[in-house]
Amino acid sequence: MRDKVILITGGGRGIGAATAVLAAEQGYTVCVSYRQNRDAAHAVVGDIEQRGGEAMAVAADVASEADVVRLFETLDRRFGPLTALVNNAGILERQMRVEDMDAARLARIFATNGTGSFVCAREAIRRMSTRHGGKGGAIVNVSSVAARLGAPDEYVDYAASKAAIDALTIGLSKEVAAEGIRVNAVRPGVIHTDIHASGGEPGRVDRVKDAVPMKRGGQAAEVANAILWLLSEQASYTTGAFIDVAGGR
Ligand code: NAD
Repeated sequence: MRDKVILITGGGRGIGAATAVLAAEQGYTVCVSYRQNRDAAHAVVGDIEQRGGEAMAVAADVASEADVVRLFETLDRRFGPLTALVNNAGILERQMRVEDMDAARLARIFATNGTGSFVCAREAIRRMSTRHGGKGGAIVNVSSVAARLGAPDEYVDYAASKAAIDALTIGLSKEVAAEGIRVNAVRPGVIHTDIHASGGEPGRVDRVKDAVPMKRGGQAAEVANAILWLLSEQASYTTGAFIDVAGGR
């Protein structure tokens, strides 16, 4: 039985990939899940293995409950029960005013960002909770500063989906606190990753960086550091908490 087993959803690139590599450095056996980026996810696994770590990549769309159930069963079989979950998979769609958004767009955003995080947390809790014979564990949800700032004229749907993650974090943290599970969240600001080019708006980090008190975008590794701290024993009395990794925004 491995001591530290972590699942990072959408771990093939960006914040998820940085978290996977740092987790392996800190002694975790790592599972990264991916939806489309098979090669990128396997490259992360290769990188970890090359440094002497243990990792695997599993295809799973977090918006599909059946995929998520299969993902956790695969993880159980290969590495045993997980001790840490990072709900990182998330999407952003093209910048748009609210008048132009339709319900289908909202459904897509909420299916991945909201329902995906919920179902993954449920599967993790079924395995971690001392109520079900588990040994406890920790969950970190990747929210966004948009949850508390809003994203007017840009991504109001995305902001709402991240606010749902915040409410999920607070609610779950209380529900499972006495069962050995801590649930926290990070709220990144603008971070240099491909989410802006592939979903939102290329060049967004540079466009908004002057509104950041630190006058720069963040790096994925800077978010990964906060995630790993929240998962660690150093955060043993921290649950239902949020860390903004946003340069003061
Ligand atoms: P990214 O696009 O590089 O990474 C997101 C990953 O999630 C990708 O690998 C993508 O394939 C995967 N993914 C998307 N939908 C999925 C699904 N349905 N099932 C499985 N995997 C799926 O972007 P990132 O910036 O690294 O984003 C990571 C998280 O950080 C996201 O939740 C995002 O909302 C959040 N975030 C990012 C920023 C930023 O500025 N980059 C700011 C605030 C919050």
